[in-house]
Amino acid sequence: MEIAVLSGKGGTGKTTVVTALSELAKKVIKVDCDVDAPNLYLFYKGMDIEKKNFYGGKKAKINNSLCIHCEICEEVCKFGAIKNSEIDSFTCEGCGACVLVCPQHAIKLEDEKTADTFITKTEKGIISRAIMGIGSDGSGKLVTYLRKNVKRFVEDDTITILDGSPGIGCSVIASITGADVALIVTEPTKSGLDDLKRILELSEHFDTQVMVCVNKYDINPGMTAQIEGYAREKNLFVVGKIPFDKTVMESVNTLKPITDFKDSIARKAIEEMWVRMNSLMVIKELQNNKKI
Ligand code: SF4
Ligand code: SF4
Repeated sequence: MEIAVLSGKGGTGKTTVVTALSELAKKVIKVDCDVDAPNLYLFYKGMDIEKKNFYGGKKAKINNSLCIHCEICEEVCKFGAIKNSEIDSFTCEGCGACVLVCPQHAIKLEDEKTADTFITKTEKGIISRAIMGIGSDGSGKLVTYLRKNVKRFVEDDTITILDGSPGIGCSVIASITGADVALIVTEPTKSGLDDLKRILELSEHFDTQVMVCVNKYDINPGMTAQIEGYAREKNLFVVGKIPFDKTVMESVNTLKPITDFKDSIARKAIEEMWVRMNSLMVIKELQNNKKI
């Protein structure tokens, strides 16, 4: 079972939800798909048991001994990456146009390392994560790799929680593709509702069970009601309404999951949400197996 936790923008409380659900699930594996700003591992004491280079892109390279400085490649490069027969690797997009036009066959595309990937073993299961190189792109491919890299640890009763990156970019598409459940975390603001609509549009392209969680629902009850109304229109379940809780700030500052704070009202709401999510997942599974 794979659950992708998504949000339209950063700062909606997605990591709080991810770390809490990870504590509530019995056997869990986590994938930090927020590769542009990974922070999940900070919440866990652990040890890296695997580190690999990830080659997510291509860059052109000129063999100076073959180059006759004809500047044809410079003319053809639409990204302005070539000047005086030298390639700026930060600007090169690896499109390969220069390779095709070089009369001397002096240019080659070479694999570019874009990230270090890690399998980190923690007290609470494995985390698959990455640290991208500065200025690197190709985050969608990297997320797909992180998800694949963890499959060997998955058992029948494992819940894999994917901490998705905010927005609707390619890394989000890579997070949601093939996931069983998408839990969209939003806030009761106008932009929160708009973000929810955008992610929903995206998730409609996938066969994924979508659930909604409204974080800090009580700071704007009117907007929360609008989100609930919209969810009803779309036949979606608002599985969780998390109240504003100062303890969440303490949880983030001390890098401890909110489930560690016994008196937290946010914790209680997330626990109730987890129960609802489980019920819906069971119903969906029964429907898929045509038992109901
Ligand atoms: S097209 Fe080839 S030979 Fe001409 S400047 Fe570029 S690398 Fe050199
Ligand atoms: S691979 Fe494309 S972007 Fe890179 S230098 Fe060649 S033409 Fe320019």
